[in-house]
Amino acid sequence: MPDGFSVLWCKDADDTALSDIFVSDFTSLDKDKIDSAFEYIRAHNPHITSECVSHAQDAIPVRYPLATTVADGYVVIGNAAFMTKPTSGSGIENTLTAAAILTDVIKKANDFTTSALWQYAVRANLAFGANCYMSYVARSRFQVLDREDLIWLFDSGVLNDSLLALARFDLKNQDDFQIKSILDSVVLARKKPEFIRQIRSILRKCARARILAMRMPILYDEALIKAWKAEYDSFARNEE
Ligand SMILES: Cc1cc2nc3c(=O)[nH]c(=O)nc-3n(C[C@H](O)[C@H](O)[C@H](O)COP(=O)(O)OP(=O)(O)OC[C@H]3O[C@@H](n4cnc5c(N)ncnc54)[C@H](O)[C@@H]3O)c2cc1C
Repeated sequence: MPDGFSVLWCKDADDTALSDIFVSDFTSLDKDKIDSAFEYIRAHNPHITSECVSHAQDAIPVRYPLATTVADGYVVIGNAAFMTKPTSGSGIENTLTAAAILTDVIKKANDFTTSALWQYAVRANLAFGANCYMSYVARSRFQVLDREDLIWLFDSGVLNDSLLALARFDLKNQDDFQIKSILDSVVLARKKPEFIRQIRSILRKCARARILAMRMPILYDEALIKAWKAEYDSFARNEE
């Protein structure tokens, strides 16, 4: 991935002489930027020509999910409710999960009041919303860190499978867990104390984000929901 793009790929179709190219960024793309992406892709895949068979441009929401997704007789779902994964823009799985939850809630509801539909909001939050909220908080904070520091984080070995398993309290699913990898991480981390302090602060914010999202009121109470929503929005916007 060249500097300045979030996701960029090309894929050859199995049975034709066509290639599919995807260019994206967290900010708007202009013609110069798209041209420079094509140049990069063509330089790395010389079989790709400059002939374009078809193209499309779209926007994908990559913010945290809406706090409130229901009103009397209305629900929002999918992209309209920002149900995409904030790190990748993938939204198909979450949208289909939300659709299944909504179907179930509607089947059981006696009416379509906000109060009856609120269970859809609660179940979608439990199924994926709170995780998306936490990912958004992580991404928005990681995004502004120094690029070289981030490359070091992923390349140096300071973040390794054993450390991640320990952080998840999930050692039983990590067959090759090694205490040496943890010790190596500690030694490496000492080389960049200020950066590691920033990472620790982000991880603490992520934990708070998940707890805050999971505090969504389970039963419909307008005043409680309004107070929770204010906190949810202000924390995500880094106003806390
Ligand atoms: C280029 C690209 C690549 C992507 N790749 C992936 C991927 O690999 N994996 C993944 O999980 N997600 C991916 N996504 C995201 C994913 O497509 C969306 O998150 C998902 O489709 C959202 O579903 P949705 O039903 O909310 O919206 P949509 O799928 O956009 O459906 C909305 C529908 O409403 C219709 N519509 C809009 N306005 C009106 C109107 N006024 N009246 C009637 N109909 C209307 C639209 O025509 C459209 O059919 C990608 C998105 C893009 C743009």
